[in-house]
Amino acid sequence: MSRGHPLETYRRKRHFDRTTEPRGDAGPSGTTAPCFVVQIHDASTPHFDFRLEVDGVLRSWSVSKGPSTHPEDKRLAMSTEDHPLEYRDFEGVIAEGEYGAGTVIVWDEGTYRPLTHDKRNRPVPFADALAAGHVSFHLDGGKLRGGFALTRFRGGDGERESWPLVKEGRAGSARQRGTPDPARARSVRTGRTLRQVAEGRPAGGSARR
Ligand code: MN
Repeated sequence: MSRGHPLETYRRKRHFDRTTEPRGDAGPSGTTAPCFVVQIHDASTPHFDFRLEVDGVLRSWSVSKGPSTHPEDKRLAMSTEDHPLEYRDFEGVIAEGEYGAGTVIVWDEGTYRPLTHDKRNRPVPFADALAAGHVSFHLDGGKLRGGFALTRFRGGDGERESWPLVKEGRAGSARQRGTPDPARARSVRTGRTLRQVAEGRPAGGSARR
């Protein structure tokens, strides 16, 4: 697959005069370890966006049910276009009529440690491991902690490939188990729900109806 500017597809899909999403002109994240972010995106089909910093961009997957902390759960993750690093800061509303219209919250974020090794137990560069179709990594986030793996299931040349996302090693605590409920989930940054962000309200305030 020939790749031009890593953000070419991302930029082609968006009008930066009509969306507050970043264009992606900043440099590296500055963190010593690469970062990850999981956003909840209340688009026409609500989903989780799972993003890992690799070589200056956020490699991205759309995970319909969100990550599970139980090793027996396979979560379908469809690859999407690379996003700029600044996208990890994006929480807000994408205007109606624009690509991906809907509300976004930062559900979890942190850093990750690549764990993929070759047969001689030497570390494999993360981008190489992705190109080969399998990555293992340890997440150190506010909500997600521990080993996870993404494995390319089919394809390899298209814009969208399926990569089951699986918890590796020990299961998470019972409290974390199962599918996060997007309607109840809160931003790891601001404590707000999707609805509070959509309505421009602060965290906590309850507007009962
Ligand atoms: Mn999305």
